[in-house]
Amino acid sequence: MKISLIIPCYNEEEVLPIAFKRLKQLIHNNRQIHDKSISWELLFVNDGSKDGTTEILKKYAEDEDFIKVLNFSRNFGHQPAVTAGLHHCDADAAVIMDCDMQDPPEVIPSMVETWLNEGCHGVYAVRESRKGETGFKKLSASLFYKTINRLSEIELPRDTGDFRLVDKTIIQAFCELKEGDKYIRGLIPWLGFEQKPFYYQREAREAGETKYPLSKMIKLAANGILSLSSKPLEKIMTLGFVSLFIAFLVVIYTLLSFFLPGISVEPGWASLMIVILFFSSMNLIALGIIGYYISRIFNESKNRPEYIIESILGE
Ligand code: UDP
Ligand code: MG
Repeated sequence: MKISLIIPCYNEEEVLPIAFKRLKQLIHNNRQIHDKSISWELLFVNDGSKDGTTEILKKYAEDEDFIKVLNFSRNFGHQPAVTAGLHHCDADAAVIMDCDMQDPPEVIPSMVETWLNEGCHGVYAVRESRKGETGFKKLSASLFYKTINRLSEIELPRDTGDFRLVDKTIIQAFCELKEGDKYIRGLIPWLGFEQKPFYYQREAREAGETKYPLSKMIKLAANGILSLSSKPLEKIMTLGFVSLFIAFLVVIYTLLSFFLPGISVEPGWASLMIVILFFSSMNLIALGIIGYYISRIFNESKNRPEYIIESILGE
């Protein structure tokens, strides 16, 4: 039985040697799980790194036979890197994980065991704790999962990232997906098939800095919501009707003030400003959301590949 670990790397020269040591240990200790002998493969996806990552990976691929490296022609992003890994995976199951050891590789054998015992198609790792993450990241993540679960048609498990095991069936179904701008942790549950949770403690990054700055995080979150739901568009309509109703009430109030002495309308500009600001901001928000969907349609219609591979090592 073959299991691939899909590991996207972007400028990870500091963490790679530590990661490689731990992964090698993992492979060494787990040649057999239950009655199944396992042949492991490390599938590194080098996402256009500009530091020593490329050289380090090249050396690993030359030295060891269980290593495969996909080199991208430039930096395409984490989600395209994972996608490329899944597209190039011929194993019975794949584990998607980060290179920075925040997802401790030592729990992978238990994930494999859960998969074999439960007879399911996938095992997703749920974070019981998150070490080394800022309060802001935890808060924004929690808000995001609440929002997306309210909006999307399928339930996304909370505190679940891309760290997960997927079997051949899921990989095959995933490879059928034609859309670009994938939101993998949403698409894999969307595919269906029985998938079981596995609880673990998320560690702090081993070395180096996060490669997910706020801008990339916002892009990922927006992709998540836009690719799984068209509800924001419906909400705009509702919002439009609500504001129309408010405007209607204001009109009635103003008309009444002509006839009823008890009601008076201030001839000030404040009320006017508020109304103008309110409605123009609603307009802008609505336009922005629609614009987002249109830009996705535009991107899809170009039909460009999500990533471009420059070279493959270790095949
Ligand atoms: N990564 C990537 N391409 C990018 C950004 C990140 O392949 O453009 C990889 C990175 O090397 C790491 C994983 O994606 O293995 C997760 O990134 P990181 O740990 O920096 O994100 P965080 O855990 O801080 O959200
Ligand atoms: Mg990380």
